[in-house]
Amino acid sequence: MKIRCKNCYRVLEPQEEYCKNCGTHSIEIQKAMQTGDYGGGPVYRLKMGLILFLIIAFIGSGIFTIIFGTFTSDATESVFNKSNSLLVTSIICTAVLYIVNYKSLKDFFWNGNWKQLLGLISISVIFLVMTFFLPKISSITKVLPNFITSYLHSGTARWFSGKNTNVSFVLLSLILVILVEEFLFRRLLIDVLDEHTMLGDLMIVLITTLISTVLDFAWMMAPETIIVSLVLNMVCSGLYMYSNRSLIISIIFRILVVAIQFIIYLV
Ligand SMILES: [Zn+2]
Repeated sequence: MKIRCKNCYRVLEPQEEYCKNCGTHSIEIQKAMQTGDYGGGPVYRLKMGLILFLIIAFIGSGIFTIIFGTFTSDATESVFNKSNSLLVTSIICTAVLYIVNYKSLKDFFWNGNWKQLLGLISISVIFLVMTFFLPKISSITKVLPNFITSYLHSGTARWFSGKNTNVSFVLLSLILVILVEEFLFRRLLIDVLDEHTMLGDLMIVLITTLISTVLDFAWMMAPETIIVSLVLNMVCSGLYMYSNRSLIISIIFRILVVAIQFIIYLV
């Protein structure tokens, strides 16, 4: 966060207690130098991220569902309303989050080593195979919300149909949901819990799993996916923690989970 000179409104450097331009003393810089908190730290970024998420994903998806609902009078078109509001909110959410945090993007993809990579890939493969079978076991262990699978299964689903809903739009919105959730619930949330609490690794995995599952539900509103969401969030928090804080594995893992489902329902 920028701290400005009260007198000439110049942006001050981190150590610039007295403005180099006009000499005015800055109490904010003085405080920041004492506490080390310049307001742009992980707690601030997480707070901002969560506020944006709640406004856009939570309230926004409700508003957009109603807006898209006014375009279609047919009740069977609910997949159109839901998937398009998901597409719009996920595009806005991804753009806002990644623009606000662009400075910290470069170091988050991969920080691990080869040994970790091989271990994480084997764990991912085991859970990928699991998600292949989970939706077949029961009606409450779905990977994708029912409104999406029934659309994919309907026989009318096309990658590009030029009509209201396209498979590619649905897939794109789900990938954007993954990008938003991994950045917010994995990187920002775990980093804050790690740096600002005395919680152990296992507790951090459990807490982030619970929070991310609840917020994921708030966005997708699909009770049939809660159990799988819980499992996937726990796996992803683990993948992040044991890869020296890298997001790339959990992002690829979740995209593959979704892609496999699309293949199952479309073929
Ligand atoms: Zn000044």
